[in-house]
Amino acid sequence: MAELEGLEFGKSDFVLLDEVTMEQFMENLKLRFEKGRIYTYIGEVVVSVNPYTQMDIYGKDTIDAYRGRELYENPPHLYAVSDAAYKAMKRRAKDTCIVISGESGAGKTEASKFIMQYIAAITNPSQRAEVESVKNVLLKSNCVLEAFGNAKTNRNDNSSRFGKYMDINFNFNGDPTGGHINNYLLEKSRVVQQQDGERNFHSFYQTSNNDRSSHKAVMSALGVIGFSKEEINSIYQILASILLLGNLQFESDGEIVQIVGLEAVEHISELTETDSESVSKSLLYRTVATGGGEVIEKGHTEHEASFGRDAFVKALYERLFGWIVGRINSVIEVKDYNPVLHGKNTVIGVLDIYGFEIFDNNSFEQFCINYCNEKLQQLFIEVILRQEQDEYQREGITWQHIDYFNNQIIVDLVEQPHKGIISILDEACLSVGKVTDTVCLDSMDIKLAQHPHYTSRKLSPTDKTMDFQKHFRIRHYAGDVTYSVEGFLDKNKDMLFQDFKRLMYNSANPVLKEMWPDGQLSITEVTKRPLTAATLFKNSIVALVDKLACKEPYYVRCIKPNEMKSPVLFDDARCQHQVAYLGLMENVMVRRAGFAYRQPYLRFLQRYKMTCEYTWPNHLMATDREAVEAIVTQHGFQGDVEYGHTKLFVRTPRSLYTLEQERATLI
Ligand code: ADP
Ligand code: MG
Repeated sequence: MAELEGLEFGKSDFVLLDEVTMEQFMENLKLRFEKGRIYTYIGEVVVSVNPYTQMDIYGKDTIDAYRGRELYENPPHLYAVSDAAYKAMKRRAKDTCIVISGESGAGKTEASKFIMQYIAAITNPSQRAEVESVKNVLLKSNCVLEAFGNAKTNRNDNSSRFGKYMDINFNFNGDPTGGHINNYLLEKSRVVQQQDGERNFHSFYQTSNNDRSSHKAVMSALGVIGFSKEEINSIYQILASILLLGNLQFESDGEIVQIVGLEAVEHISELTETDSESVSKSLLYRTVATGGGEVIEKGHTEHEASFGRDAFVKALYERLFGWIVGRINSVIEVKDYNPVLHGKNTVIGVLDIYGFEIFDNNSFEQFCINYCNEKLQQLFIEVILRQEQDEYQREGITWQHIDYFNNQIIVDLVEQPHKGIISILDEACLSVGKVTDTVCLDSMDIKLAQHPHYTSRKLSPTDKTMDFQKHFRIRHYAGDVTYSVEGFLDKNKDMLFQDFKRLMYNSANPVLKEMWPDGQLSITEVTKRPLTAATLFKNSIVALVDKLACKEPYYVRCIKPNEMKSPVLFDDARCQHQVAYLGLMENVMVRRAGFAYRQPYLRFLQRYKMTCEYTWPNHLMATDREAVEAIVTQHGFQGDVEYGHTKLFVRTPRSLYTLEQERATLI
C-alpha cells in the first residue's frame, strides 16, 4: 500500500476499496485521474491512466525520491515498480520483467520509455564510459525503432505498429552491460495501404517534408548506435525504392501484362543495385518448377502482378525493420561475459506489446494480436496466483482459493495442434486444391462446432450480426470478437515469389543482400512447406511467454481515458470496458481473497509504533512480532490478521486504514 496522500485523492491501492465493486473501482479511478493522480496500485501492479498532458512527475527530484525505496513509501509511480524490479534483480540476483499492457494509445510506449530512463538514471553512479555507452545505445534505439515501426493512426499519433520485448543485461554491480530486442508482428500491410486519416510508417515522411527535425534525430541516433554511412545510405535507398515500387502500375491488353513507366524501373534498379531487366522480369513473371522437374517462366496476370508487387514491398520493409533490430542487437549484445570473472549476469525485460483489439472489422491481424493477449492473460493469472501461493507457503499461512475465469480453454481453441484454429488455417493453406476463405470457415465450423468459445452464423443461424460466408466469433476473455475470414488465407500464407528473393539476394549492395539469405535458393530447392504467418507468430509468442515465465514479473496496466486525446475527459463506459477486459477486478479480488496487505514485522512496527502505548517510543518485548501483536490487539483487529514467519498479513484493508488515519493524527 502506498503512502497515503489523503482521501481527497482517492485510494492509492484498489485493494483498499471498502467493497470490491465495479462502481467503487471506477469511482476511485476517475477521482484519481481528475486529481492528476494517474497511477494507482493493485498490490504491486500499477494501473496507469494516460494523462494526455505533460506531468511534472518524471524529473530528477522524483527519480531521487523513488530510488532505493519501497513501494509503499511513496505515491504510486512507474518508478516505484521499476525500482522494485531493479532491487529484486540486484539484491536477489533475480531476472525480472515488466509487462506493460493496454490498448492502443493507452500509454504503454511512453511508460516503457520512463522505465528505461529511470533505470538509466539510477545505474552507473561512477559514470564508467563503457556502461554509459551501452545506456546511450539502449535509449537511442527507441528513437530508431519508433521512426521505422511507428505510425500515425486514428487512435494514436505515434502508434507502435509492432510488439517489442527488450532485455537489459546487468553485471554484478547492477550496471547495464547490454541488451537484446525482440520484435513481434510488424504491421507491414501499412506499407501498401492505410485507413483514412492514417499514415504510413514515420520513416517515409522524414526525408522530404515536415518531419525533418525528427529525421535529424534519427540520423544522429543511427550514428550513435554505430550504423555506418553505407548502412544508413542503404536504408534510405530501400525506403525510396519501396515508394517507387508502391507507385508502379501494370497494364494489360488482355494478353500481355506490362509495367507502366519504365523510368521508375530504372530508378528502382539503381537504388537496389540490381539489374533493371531482372527487376522488370521479377515483377512480370514467376519461375515455377513443373511436376516433371522442368523449370519454366510463367507470366503474371495483371492481378497477380499487383499482388506480387504488394507482397514484395511489404517484405522489403519487414526485412529492413528486422535487419535494423538485428543490427542494434549486434551492438548491444553482451560480449565476452565471463560469469566466473564477472558474477551472475541478470536481466530486466520490458514488454511493450499491442493490447486486445476489437474493431468494427476484425481480420487476421486482430486474431493474432488477441491470441497474444490471451497468452499474456494466461501468464498473468498463473503468475499472480502462483506468487501469492508461494508467499503464503513460505510464511506458513493457509489461504483459501478464489475462483476466477481460466482462459486456457481459449488459448487451446486457437493453438491446439490438429484441432485449433491455427492448425485448421494452416491445413487450408497447405492443401493443394484451391481452398478459399469460405471453405476454411466451413472446416472451422465442423471442427469447432462444440467449442463453447467459438461460433459462426452457421452455428448460430439467428445471429444476424454475422454473415454466413464471412464471419466467425471468438468469445475472448476480454469480450466477443467477430472476425471476418476474408483474406485470412492470403495473410497466413504470406506468399512472396521466390523471384523477388533471388533479385534481392543478387543485389550488389551488401546490406540488401544480407537481408535476403533465402534468395540464394533456386526454385527447385525451395522447401515446399514454409511455416505460415500464424504459426511463426504463435512460435514467437510461445517463446516470449517462456521467457517471461522464468522471470519475476511486474505489471503495468494502461488505460486510455477517452478517444479525443483529452487531458480532462474520463469516458466512463470506455474506461470500465478496459478495466473489465484487463481483468483488474479479478486482480483486486485475488489480491484481497488472500491478504490485501503484508509487511515485515520491523517495518510495520516502524510505521505504526506511535499508535500503541506498548510500542512507543520503543517496545520491551522479546521480538518485533510480539510488538506487532500488541499493536494489532490494541486496535482490536486480531481476527483480521495472520502472523507469518517474517511478515504480518492483514486480510481486509479497513484495519490498516484505521491505523493509517490514527497515525496521521499523531505525526
Ligand atoms: P501506446 O504505446 O499504448 O499505444 P503511447 O505510449 O504511444 O500509447 O501514448 C500515446 C500518447 O499519449 C503519447 O504520444 C503521449 O502524447 C500521450 N501519453 C502517454 N503517456 C503519457 C504520459 N505519462 N505523460 C504524458 N503524455 C502521455
Ligand atoms: Mg506503443
